[in-house]
Amino acid sequence: MAPAVAIDTTVARAVATDLGENVYKCYQCKRCTAGCPVAPLGDLHPAQIIRAVQLGDLAAAVESRFIWLCTGCVTCSTRCPQEIDVAGVMDELRAISWQEGLVPKDRPFADILQYNFDSIVRWGRLYEIELIARYKFMRPRAMMDDALLGVKMFAKGKLSLRPAFGDRRQMKRMVAEVEKIEAERAAARGRVAARLAPAGAGGAR
Ligand code: SF4
Ligand code: SF4
Repeated sequence: MAPAVAIDTTVARAVATDLGENVYKCYQCKRCTAGCPVAPLGDLHPAQIIRAVQLGDLAAAVESRFIWLCTGCVTCSTRCPQEIDVAGVMDELRAISWQEGLVPKDRPFADILQYNFDSIVRWGRLYEIELIARYKFMRPRAMMDDALLGVKMFAKGKLSLRPAFGDRRQMKRMVAEVEKIEAERAAARGRVAARLAPAGAGGAR
């Protein structure tokens, strides 16, 4: 008789607790992947990510390039015949990856999300020029990419040199509340990083 294989259900349980989603309902029809606009650009596609979570392949699930490419368009969730919130699972995996320091270095999309967040907290709403400047500063070789697009946006009044302030106090209060909830979730879930094989944890920053 073949030996039993132990499956690590850490992430599947986190998804069940935090989202109320049971990834084991997925039968790999791949409708989510077929409708995903960024599936062809990633290392894995949505159905493969769900499979990785089912099988407890934590390295594949939380270190995947794809989870940072996901735009949150929710097409996958609306197409799933099992009504799994696939987009919500991607959110959960990003949160785990970030909190556990498992985001590999070559994930500019993860950096942009952080710049977005910093900007919204600082100004109360997104300040696009700051976001672009930080991104370009980190990647000087891409300095002139999209320059023409930037000029066009200025011309149409879509970009402003001055920040537009939102309710910063309210924003900070909201962020503090979310951070508290996330810390409670992380504590309930336990450390995911410690359960990864050494090879999988190699790209962590
Ligand atoms: S659409 Fe739903 S059931 Fe089909 S592969 Fe995707 S997650 Fe699984
Ligand atoms: S939410 Fe993400 S995974 Fe789902 S279809 Fe959109 S880009 Fe793809």
